[in-house]
Amino acid sequence: MNVLWNEVISRAESEERTYLMEHECKELLLRAGIPTNSTLVAQSVDEAVKLSDKIGYPVVLKVLSPEVVHKSDRGGVKLNLKNASEVELAYKEIISAFADKKLIGVTVQEMVKPGLEAIVGVSRDPAFGPVLMFGLGGVFVEVLKDVSFKILPVTEADIEEMIKELRGYKLLQEYRGEAVDIPALKELLLKVSDMVMENPEISELDLNPVFLYPKGAMAVDARIFLRKPETGESLQTYRKKDESSLQKLFYPGSIAVLGASDTPGKLGWNVFHNLLYHRFAGKLYPVNIKAKTVQGVPAVSSIEEIKEPVDAAIILVPAAQTVQAFEECCRKGIKMIIIESAGFAETGESGKGVEKELRQLAEKYNCRFVGPNCSGIINTHHNVVQSIGVVGDLRKGNIGLVAQAGVYAAGMLWGVRHIMDFAVVATIGNKADINETDILEYLGEDDHVKVICMYLEDVKTGRRFIDVARRITAEKPVIVLKSGRTEAGKKAVSSHTASLAGNDIIYDAALRQAGIIRATDNDHMFGLARAFSKQPLPLGDGVMVISYTGSLGVAAADALSLNGMRPADLDAETRQYLEQILPPYVGCNNPVDYTFDMNAEQVRKTIEIGLRSKEISSFIVILQAEILDTYVKELKEIDFGNKPILSCVPCKEFAMEEVIALEQAGIPVYSTPEEAVRVLATMYRYGMRK
Ligand code: ADP
Ligand code: MG
Repeated sequence: MNVLWNEVISRAESEERTYLMEHECKELLLRAGIPTNSTLVAQSVDEAVKLSDKIGYPVVLKVLSPEVVHKSDRGGVKLNLKNASEVELAYKEIISAFADKKLIGVTVQEMVKPGLEAIVGVSRDPAFGPVLMFGLGGVFVEVLKDVSFKILPVTEADIEEMIKELRGYKLLQEYRGEAVDIPALKELLLKVSDMVMENPEISELDLNPVFLYPKGAMAVDARIFLRKPETGESLQTYRKKDESSLQKLFYPGSIAVLGASDTPGKLGWNVFHNLLYHRFAGKLYPVNIKAKTVQGVPAVSSIEEIKEPVDAAIILVPAAQTVQAFEECCRKGIKMIIIESAGFAETGESGKGVEKELRQLAEKYNCRFVGPNCSGIINTHHNVVQSIGVVGDLRKGNIGLVAQAGVYAAGMLWGVRHIMDFAVVATIGNKADINETDILEYLGEDDHVKVICMYLEDVKTGRRFIDVARRITAEKPVIVLKSGRTEAGKKAVSSHTASLAGNDIIYDAALRQAGIIRATDNDHMFGLARAFSKQPLPLGDGVMVISYTGSLGVAAADALSLNGMRPADLDAETRQYLEQILPPYVGCNNPVDYTFDMNAEQVRKTIEIGLRSKEISSFIVILQAEILDTYVKELKEIDFGNKPILSCVPCKEFAMEEVIALEQAGIPVYSTPEEAVRVLATMYRYGMRK
């Protein structure tokens, strides 16, 4: 394999080509065990005829030129040539049509029998590396863009999924009354995956089309673009940092705060205030050149004055002094450093240089750091709050939140802390060292954390992120809100695959491959997190809907069917109980529609009946905002066992106090039935995962 590769690559290099022509690609495919048709090269009419005779009619002639990528565009592909005179004519036509191009000749190929046309391709994504694409040819790819992606390398399960993900999947099962050979297709995809993983010089690859048959599959066209792989590239993606976990970052016994301030309004004041206010139980060392005490705590003027060992340091000094402060912390033997100061890579090249310097120091002294340009760590189970914004009371909870932007997290926390209980909030800023994957890995191990939310602008560690997330999503739900969804700066792309592999599409594929739940916006992410955090997973698809308005009850029922769930059937026993409590003007149905005079006692009794039924696995209750307080009291008392309940309160923003009370009683509140149903359905699907 390598000999051939080297030969092909050095030939391309010597001709200053980054494009491999069809016959070269097909040679490589055959070596990799990927079925393709024999393709010979002719440089004269006579030779074309001779090769055609040898191959056997009908044959195909195609233009062969390093300058022609899309051969059929200008009549460069002549199909179904049945005899020598047709070959002669085709040869001449091709030569004259491409007179302006550097021609090597034409390829002469066997005309293979038609099959279902598919496209298989690989492109490279800046965050995730090589990405495999599969789709059906023709209008499916051209118009409908019906393609699926997986980040390489792939497992057999990934391949299976990427085939099934296609909207046109059915066609594979009944193309002209017969199924195509799926095992052969899978094998072809796996071999393409192997070929690309073994040859980092491949930048883009297109097999378009691959003919899929009832028996076997065959690539009849191929193109490859080359690149120069960066040295150490794969190492970077897979490099595992110091194995010691981030435990001490989240559970420090002592913290030094460089730049802790006694002047209200300064960030150094906020951070130190937060640590005191939330009663950090360990030892605190404010470091301040001038002040003798900071907020009543005796201060030191430099870190060297501290006699005892220190677990963690927070750096809040101006950017220009950060490297020096950082090195002092390193020399002191501090292993976890949180740089909250801003003014680094986000401001330009020189800032990037400083970050590199910090990384080198960290490596030299074997320590890890968060930031710069972040808002530190919160761990409610250890009373650590390092935020740059003043944070009010926090309850000890089970949500882990990772945010790139510190101010975002601080801003959100101000409000959502009333209805969400966090275990950990970690802001990672410019992530010059510790990144989203490191934190995710830690949150996977932290037993206080039951559900993980991530707000990301980009992913640094591509493949490792997927591997870590995949492991964790098997145990805990991970919800990601990825911003920057629109494609910025559309790059010029040459292969079909690369043009279809938009930035957001690849993120979407990667997140799905990792088993991550992707949120569309903040509300969605927090809406999901509240439910996962407070409620058990539904064990079945039958839902009891209780509503004070028929129209929203119907909306809930519709949303259930659209999201793969259903209003539960009411069994005879349930009906019998219900009929005893329903007012005479209400029919015994699900949704149970009590109309406007629905009250808390009725709802409680209805739920109690529903709890007894095997048909009913979860509840959605649609409640009046104006008497929400009565529901809080009543619902709080019910033991729901393993059946989740979500509520919908129209106009909830005008009854915030009661909404907060209901949330704190463990029942998530949504504005619309559709929103509640979508969350419930996501939980159900998560519960049903393999
Ligand atoms: P292009 O460079 O334009 O993509 P292709 O080599 O893919 O050219 O040829 C265009 C079309 O011709 C293919 O989509 C396929 O349907 C058909 N074709 C190409 N090669 C063969 C072949 N050897 N046997 C049968 N059909 C072929
Ligand atoms: Mg083609």
